[in-house]
Amino acid sequence: MEIYLDANATTPVLPQASAAALATMADDFGNPSSIHSTGLKARALMDEVRARARRVLGAPDGQLLFLSGATEGIQTAVLSALAALRGRRDAGEALPKLLLFGATEHKAVPEALKHWNALLGLHLQVLPIPVDRDGRHDLAWLRAHAPRAGLVCTMAANNETGVISDLDGIASALSGSAALWMVDSVQALGKLPLRLSGRPIDYAPFSGHKLYAPKGIGLLYVREGAPFTPLMAGGGQEGALRSGTENMSGIAALGAVLAAVEDGHTFRNHEVLASYRDRLAAALRDAFPGVVFNAPSTHCLPTTLNFSVPGLTSKLLLDLFDAAEMRVSGGSACGATKALPSHVLEAMGLPDWQVSSAVRLSFGPAADAQFIDEACARIRACGESLREHCLSVPAPSLLRPLELLTRFVVDGACCYVLADPASRHCVVIDPLPELTGRLSQWLGCRDCTVVAVLDTHSHGDHASSAAELRGALPHALLEGAPLDALGWPEGAEEITLGSLRLTKLAIPGHTRDSTAYLLHSAQGLQRAFVGDTVMPGALGRSDFAQSEPLAFGPSLRKLADTVGPHTLLLPGHDYDDRFACTLSTECAAQPLLARVLRGELDAAGFAAAKAALEKNLALTAYQTVACGARVDGCAEGSTVEMAPAGVLAWLPKPSGLVLVDVREPYEGRLGPAPDLGGTVRQQAVPLSALLNALPDWLALPAETPILFFCRSGHRSAQAARALRRLGHVQAWSLAGGLALWPRARDAALSV
Ligand code: PLP
Repeated sequence: MEIYLDANATTPVLPQASAAALATMADDFGNPSSIHSTGLKARALMDEVRARARRVLGAPDGQLLFLSGATEGIQTAVLSALAALRGRRDAGEALPKLLLFGATEHKAVPEALKHWNALLGLHLQVLPIPVDRDGRHDLAWLRAHAPRAGLVCTMAANNETGVISDLDGIASALSGSAALWMVDSVQALGKLPLRLSGRPIDYAPFSGHKLYAPKGIGLLYVREGAPFTPLMAGGGQEGALRSGTENMSGIAALGAVLAAVEDGHTFRNHEVLASYRDRLAAALRDAFPGVVFNAPSTHCLPTTLNFSVPGLTSKLLLDLFDAAEMRVSGGSACGATKALPSHVLEAMGLPDWQVSSAVRLSFGPAADAQFIDEACARIRACGESLREHCLSVPAPSLLRPLELLTRFVVDGACCYVLADPASRHCVVIDPLPELTGRLSQWLGCRDCTVVAVLDTHSHGDHASSAAELRGALPHALLEGAPLDALGWPEGAEEITLGSLRLTKLAIPGHTRDSTAYLLHSAQGLQRAFVGDTVMPGALGRSDFAQSEPLAFGPSLRKLADTVGPHTLLLPGHDYDDRFACTLSTECAAQPLLARVLRGELDAAGFAAAKAALEKNLALTAYQTVACGARVDGCAEGSTVEMAPAGVLAWLPKPSGLVLVDVREPYEGRLGPAPDLGGTVRQQAVPLSALLNALPDWLALPAETPILFFCRSGHRSAQAARALRRLGHVQAWSLAGGLALWPRARDAALSV
């Protein structure tokens, strides 16, 4: 059973609401503008729902319009207020200078303000109202700025944190100002008594789908006498304030939800909801020691919890919860390639780690005790899974399997643990400050003996955390001899890890001390850790103050002479999840690099060509620093996505198809095993250990299809792109991942 804890995003439709919607479609399908009996019945239903909404919202007077949802309501309110301001300006009146919005508003509000401000040619200053650490508006600031404001927008309750605004405090800060006031009441519907008419609120938009009505129906309250300009002109519906035939099934469903609010039985009261919230919070504390709640429960909706766990990103937590069939939301909106930090938590001034680890858990007021019990049990199971996999303390002392290579990534910077699984001796390469705690726990859990902590160079974008990590390691280091600045034992030719050997090669260029570490096994040279000298998809960096462009070309040639064209190179940064490269792949992707290696460009020519290339690509300063000079774009061209129909066509064939689950082990234990097809060879290779499997996959016959899969198709696409870029053209990713597989498979089979 799915545990849906993302009610602030949307809710399922209440059974009585869908029944009401179906009845209007099947029986009472009239157009409320028709004057025959069928139309009159529809109008009566609409009037009845509007009257109910007036009671629930405390709005006996003013206008209450049906429209498509809050975004339309916000546009209508902003247009109305700004059109009135423009009218005053055209009449020669001096205009207020500011349009104010709470810094934690939903994006629909500031975007609407900017849009209509520009479109109406007002060009007023659009300013955020600061909030304090608890997410509440700075009322002194508001009081000081209100006299110069034409419109003030503040929400009733925040969608990410559940923080409830002090509406009476805001009203008092606005008293004496002529500013109009919009209160985005989306998250308050059915959860807070709003008393709209009792407050000097001019506009209040709502969306039905946040409270068990379907999407596409909403309300806008407009105070009696507040300026109004219709957004939609046409047939004159809604008293010509909002034209377009009314969404009668949506209105009927909303009516059923409002009836449920009024009947007092369907939804739990505040005390019960708060007790549910407290139980969920207790489960989170048990599961994730050190969990921090990002807003104080004393002035939050009882149905929202926003929390962060030290050392765990939102992405990891989301994958974990999803594996346990629990739908929650990242405090950050995850874009296709990067997690965008939450503007709400940033506005509250929370530390970066709290912002990047935030998760929102929200439920609707129809939740019951059994649902909360199950949610708490699954939260505890998530914590247990993390403990078992050493991602949380206290970790049970089990001897866990150890891979040759494990990669950790923080904002594109890579850190590697290289281990000899037999002796459990290992070396950490390029430790990152953010990882000290996690690495020491990870190594301790696996009973690793750390032989060395190495840097490939003195870093430009962060300090080496080698000393810090050495101090935090649970076991004594084996380092005996004095170390050089990068952590290599002075005078040593090599570092041995069981049968593995690590040697070093000076490759000055990126920095004066840039060094490659070469990994040899009995079979020969296996991999090279090259720091920022070669980055997949980008020219190696030579843009830091201490870099030596003159040494760059000779160093690259020295590397090429030592490792040859096909050794896997592991970079110090990997912004686009390419995992590894070879000089052969990079020369194919980067003609400039090929010319350097062929000795056709000296270092000065290389620097000039690189500068010209950066200019041609019109890279922003950020991209130049972050990516070096990208020469083959951030994403590879051809698609790796394989639709379920394609997968189904493969499965019965004896094609040697290899299926690879790239989810992390802590996700695997929480849900049922994926069923992708009977007898096919299936491997589990989490992304963090992908580097181990690359050589075997690259050694397969070129026509062997390898299909990666994960929860949503994002990580599997990364793996497939990386393998394809390294030369295996039959690397694919299951489009939509396991989340969509059952439905997509059934649809494909039914064709
Ligand atoms: N305002 C708030 C506070 C919201 O939470 C949302 C939806 O998430 C909106 C506005 C926009 O609502 P809709 O997308 O239903 O138009």
